Amino acid sequence: MHNPARYLPKRPTASYWLKDLKMPVADPLPSRTVDAAIIGAGITGLSVARRLQELKPEWQIVVIEGRQLCGGATGRNGGLLIPGLQDGWTSTAARVGEAQTRKLFRFDLQNAVALSQFVSSYISNGGEPDPFLHSFKDGCLNAFATEAQRDFWTAEVEKMQDAGACGEGMFTILDRKQVAGMLGTDKFCGAVQIKPGFRVWGARLVLALAQDVLAKNKSPPPGKAGGRVNFCTETLVRKVEFASESGGSWTSPPLHRIITDREGDGPGTLTARNVVFCTNSHTRTLLPDIPIVPVKNQVIVTQPISPFPAFDGCVSANDGYEYFSAREDGRLVLGGMRNLAPDMAVGNGDDASLDPVISTALRSYIHDTFPHIRDKVEIEMEWAGIMGFSADRLPFVGPVGEDRPGVFVCAGYTGHGMPRAFLSGYHTAEMVAGVKVGEDFPEILLPHGRLGKAERVPIDTYKSSS
Ligand SMILES: Cc1cc2nc3c(=O)[nH]c(=O)nc-3n(C[C@H](O)[C@H](O)[C@H](O)COP(=O)(O)OP(=O)(O)OC[C@H]3O[C@@H](n4cnc5c(N)ncnc54)[C@H](O)[C@@H]3O)c2cc1C
Repeated sequence: MHNPARYLPKRPTASYWLKDLKMPVADPLPSRTVDAAIIGAGITGLSVARRLQELKPEWQIVVIEGRQLCGGATGRNGGLLIPGLQDGWTSTAARVGEAQTRKLFRFDLQNAVALSQFVSSYISNGGEPDPFLHSFKDGCLNAFATEAQRDFWTAEVEKMQDAGACGEGMFTILDRKQVAGMLGTDKFCGAVQIKPGFRVWGARLVLALAQDVLAKNKSPPPGKAGGRVNFCTETLVRKVEFASESGGSWTSPPLHRIITDREGDGPGTLTARNVVFCTNSHTRTLLPDIPIVPVKNQVIVTQPISPFPAFDGCVSANDGYEYFSAREDGRLVLGGMRNLAPDMAVGNGDDASLDPVISTALRSYIHDTFPHIRDKVEIEMEWAGIMGFSADRLPFVGPVGEDRPGVFVCAGYTGHGMPRAFLSGYHTAEMVAGVKVGEDFPEILLPHGRLGKAERVPIDTYKSSS
């Protein structure tokens, strides 16, 4: 039975990615009506805010976040941006058709380009050149634990190449020896090497996006003064009353009413012309008909290990249930193994505690995979985070429906957020601003016709992809 209270954000385990970051000071909730309220300050919410500010510099925009900036999945993930489909070509094409599959594939690559462009512009505008987006020299390895996985992915790669979905050199099939040469372990019987592939420090990226937005608050384009983006963090949205539900009777023109847990220091309720839900795994708390379920995942980071294989890349293994990468300072980041949790951790929205079975398994994984360094490994931190899995394994991007004008959602990446969230947020902002969205946007991501009950979906729907 769906219990909305279960999905409200609470005090989470401490994440390595957030520990030394100084986030902007929280603004009070605006007392007058805003043009757009964005709920959720992860990569999606910040991407929406930045693009909307660019398109509508005269608008009053507020980003409302229950925790600190980036307190959700973006600040707690494995940080791997592996473009390409999270499921195989065959199953995706069977579900959504070949044309949309091709668009989804391109979308991931365009997302990586858009992110790289943001990072370059941020640095050239004086932003600190933090290592929050790193292009792996050796790409990403989708490593095979079994020969069946090897045969499956080899055939899938051929199909993608035949369909002309990927450029020359994007996928290379490696055998056991080649993988062992790269990683220093013979655990895997081969891999697909995917290029390009990136490592993202999500929290630093979100902070950079916030700094960019704050800088533009101070220097709006000529003739466009008056607009502003406010960040109201530590403010939990408890309920949204949609203008369509009130029939516009309590205000004219109809406005959405956002009820928060703010007390004492100003208004607890805000009215907005548009509301954008960038609430990831918590979306159903506020929008019960969006079929996204929480799925818990765990990550550990080691102290710097030396010597570590000189592999500049990342590995996703066992159909995405295990993933790791080495950082430039020799720290190993390893996550996953939710397949060991009851019901694969589906429906578990608790990131305030760790599952001891998974904690043990993650530690053993390092020992078994890299026996030559096992005595040198010390775990520095371990934390949990919650992914938002959608019933059809694709995010919801766009207006929720004609019955709720001015209401948008951008959530539910199903463990594949780094390759999709930035551009999904960007296009959502265009829809809010009433700007035509480019033809490259995969229309299959629009919520229309996809709403319903997540409980009716078989649990196997939520397998793999982290
Ligand atoms: C442990 C883990 C590992 C992962 N590893 C990878 C990976 O390696 N590669 C990859 O591609 N993806 C990975 N993901 C998935 C990826 O992190 C997400 O898809 C992505 O970060 C989603 O971004 P978002 O901005 O939509 O959501 P979030 O970052 O979760 O932001 C949503 C925000 O909304 C806020 N919120 C929700 N409800 C309310 C409310 N009622 N009031 C106020 N605020 C609210 C939350 O507090 C949260 O901060 C991983 C996720 C986890 C948890």
